[in-house]
Amino acid sequence: MSRTPWHQRAANVSFDGRALIQGRRVEAADGETFEKHSPIDGRRLGAVARGRQADVEVAVAAARQAFEEGRWSRQPPAARKRVLQRFAEKILASKDELALLETLDMGKPIRYSTSVDVPAAARCIAWYAEAIDKVYDEIAPTGPQALALITREPMGVIGAIVPWNYPMIMAAWKLGPALATGNSVVLKPSEKSPYTALRLAELALEAGLPPGVFNVVPGYGHEAGEALALHPGVDAIGFTGSTRVGRRMLEYAGRSNLKRVYNELGGKSAFIVFDDFQDLDRAAKTAAASMFFNQGESCNAPSRLLVQDTIADEFVARVQALAPTFQPGDPLDETTEMGALVDEGQLRTVLGFIASGQEEGARLVTGGRQVRADTGGHYVEPTLFDGVRNDMRIAREEIFGPVLSVIRFRDEAQAVALANDSTYGLQASVWSHHIDRAHRVARALRAGTVHVNQYDEDDITVPFGGYKQSGNGRDKSLHAFDKYTELKTTWLRIDT
Ligand code: NAD
Repeated sequence: MSRTPWHQRAANVSFDGRALIQGRRVEAADGETFEKHSPIDGRRLGAVARGRQADVEVAVAAARQAFEEGRWSRQPPAARKRVLQRFAEKILASKDELALLETLDMGKPIRYSTSVDVPAAARCIAWYAEAIDKVYDEIAPTGPQALALITREPMGVIGAIVPWNYPMIMAAWKLGPALATGNSVVLKPSEKSPYTALRLAELALEAGLPPGVFNVVPGYGHEAGEALALHPGVDAIGFTGSTRVGRRMLEYAGRSNLKRVYNELGGKSAFIVFDDFQDLDRAAKTAAASMFFNQGESCNAPSRLLVQDTIADEFVARVQALAPTFQPGDPLDETTEMGALVDEGQLRTVLGFIASGQEEGARLVTGGRQVRADTGGHYVEPTLFDGVRNDMRIAREEIFGPVLSVIRFRDEAQAVALANDSTYGLQASVWSHHIDRAHRVARALRAGTVHVNQYDEDDITVPFGGYKQSGNGRDKSLHAFDKYTELKTTWLRIDT
């Protein structure tokens, strides 16, 4: 393996896996830890506190106490803004360290953890900081003898449970609106990617966030995650993860205190290319780049490529020609486009789906194999299937790996029907120069975000979330404030 400056830095980076509760780094209450290895090459990164019920109890109590005392919740918005702005600045100032932790922890290329993950997390925190002293409450149009105020109040303690595919960004999408509105937070990062969440909490403290306001309890989902989601002292859960676990979040709420549950779940997004779209090169590049970005481990990856049959052969050939440019490489090499899958389990899952595609009769056009096994890491080639039917497993289930399925369609009605024939509804994309068709199809698609003639645009200014079993609630934009605030009506009588 050729050495890069990032390898030298990686040798010196320190991994502190202790929880962060009440402003202090602490071991798990029973002293237990779990081992964390890097998906890049299997190297041991360190021991991480194995948070459980007892740790969640302490963290929720710390968060509740901070909230009730008002050390953050009753700060004026402008004061919260200043602290969160400093937090965002500290994230940016720690860019290399955070990016390295993220890459070593979950396997994405360093070029993207430096250019996408760290800046996006910082921008998210800064954006909510900027927003919080610019949102106003309402006064209802009542008669002269009354005044009815409609105000938003922080909810209290927010439990944030997040996945490993964009650990920092997913945490920031919860932290930004939850903290800006004055809540306290207990964050449970994925057991597969705990390190950046813990470091973020240290940076928040350095920025002036009072102790107890932002706590991190690492651990397994069925232990720390379940304890948090069942806790009667938690007012809302902001969850991002699989639909399977999202379902459990609703059960936990039903079994405990009916806490609000905001689920951001999986996807099987359709990317529809009509034969009137002229720049097939651009469409093919966008499909491949969006699919293989982050090793295909993106909830909004356009994993179902619906192509009109008149151009399908030509289009598949273009995507096939692009696939080798996403060949997995060393994530610490700045030229690498695609890195390692998060762990052995994910590798097995992806290879299992590839085998099932072949067994069900799809045509493997390119890829399909594990590579770089000698590194000790988990890498799979960019994989393209043609001749996929929408009832095959590779078209119905979220693979969360670099596997793109081409489904051919005859006409617009069939394209819409196929796209909507999914339990998911996160994103979709329509490619057409026909303005009526573009609008018609965009309206007909049952998805939280529809792209027209592109797939890359994304910004903190717009909501992100799904229809159907892709979730409820929306991360990002001012709409996210609705999730972490209660709406209060206050009636006042005015004697005239
Ligand atoms: P996951 O559901 O396995 O785990 C997510 C989090 O939940 C982790 O922190 C995990 O420890 C915890 N968890 C697991 N079981 C739990 C339980 N029984 N009780 C409480 N917590 C539990 O998902 P993952 O594999 O980490 O992430 C991949 C999934 O996330 C994909 O389905 C992807 O589509 C989805 N995702 C969605 C979005 C979105 O915004 N819609 C964004 C990113 C990822």
